[in-house]
Amino acid sequence: MLSAAFNIVGFSWITSPAATELEVIVLDWFAKMLKLPSQFLSDAPGGGVIQGTASEAVLVVLLAARDRTLKKHGKKSLEKLVVYASDQTHSALQKACQVAGIFPENFRVVKADCSKNYAVAPEAVSEAISVDLSSGLIPFFICATVGTTSSSAVDPLPELGNIAQGHDMWFHIDAAYAGSACMCPEYRHHLDGVEKADSFNMNAHKWFLTNFDCSLLWVKDRSYLVEALSTNPEFLKNKASQANSVVDFKDWQIPLGRRFRSLKLWMVLRLYGVENLQSYIRKHIQLAEHFEQLVLSDSRFEVVTPRLFSLVCFRLLPPTSEYEGGRQLNYDLMDAANSSGKIFISHTVLAGKFVLRFAVGAPLTEEQHVDAAWKLLQDEATKLSGSVYL
Ligand SMILES: *Cc1c(COP(=O)(O)O)cnc(C)c1O
Repeated sequence: MLSAAFNIVGFSWITSPAATELEVIVLDWFAKMLKLPSQFLSDAPGGGVIQGTASEAVLVVLLAARDRTLKKHGKKSLEKLVVYASDQTHSALQKACQVAGIFPENFRVVKADCSKNYAVAPEAVSEAISVDLSSGLIPFFICATVGTTSSSAVDPLPELGNIAQGHDMWFHIDAAYAGSACMCPEYRHHLDGVEKADSFNMNAHKWFLTNFDCSLLWVKDRSYLVEALSTNPEFLKNKASQANSVVDFKDWQIPLGRRFRSLKLWMVLRLYGVENLQSYIRKHIQLAEHFEQLVLSDSRFEVVTPRLFSLVCFRLLPPTSEYEGGRQLNYDLMDAANSSGKIFISHTVLAGKFVLRFAVGAPLTEEQHVDAAWKLLQDEATKLSGSVYL
């Protein structure tokens, strides 16, 4: 409410020194909380900025990377630039490529490894890069994910980082959802390898008690962002900017105007404190673990992928005779559960399997709600198996 009521339009430092300075401060706090390497801090060549969404974050770093590469290889090489990601990478990257003018045939989607919980195999990325290099293309961008959308898989950051560094490519890490968990020491290892990244993003508006929108982006070298995105029209000129002594966040994002989003994050950090935020995350993960145990205790169901955070991927096992490997059965179960109006779950498809996804992430969720959700799913499963499928 305060952020909206102040009605800041803080594009340049001069338009709201407080909004700009607070953003620098809270993003440094946050980077320290996540134990990001010191290059990502504002007193280094890097720094953090609040974007609206993870989609905008990946777009701006893709633009920075594109221009960095074009500067080296010449503007005419745009058609040769290749982006690498896995088939589990969020569709936001594909959209970013479309916007950035990356040729559609140069968006390389590497199949994730189903034996590794749908993380991408670095060898597969390496191989794709070698093939492209030998046909004269220019690999320039790798996107890794910590906590994929479908199954919360974690890509192997150190290996992908080495590949990127070996080929002078930009390495971006999308931790939109799972980044929040990494402030707990016991989950921080999922970020090992972040020191090799050029940029890192996580959404405070997802699992960090902060109202939408508040997507946190850090870069190791802010000059690439500024080179790709800055303009300097007469009507925005002012003493502070001219003296080059301040941050003008307009040069780190697509739009000019920007809200006082750092105030929301400052409130959350000050109100809860690190320890309370950590127990918030731990509680959700424990509730997801509890749900996972419930699923495991009923032989009609299976847990499809190992649970890493607060997402459980599971499904009702189809009777062997059933066509399409349980697709319709699980679709019907999801539909029945969601039609009840009591819970809402979503689905994905992994290696051809129609999978249900149970995510804990709401501030008021308690064990009794998880138990009630499971009971509802069991009851609906009984109804389904009793009728059409047996
Ligand atoms: C949610 C999510 C996104 C998209 O987030 P927006 O902020 O809505 O753009 C991208 N990547 C991952 C891994 C996500 O979980």
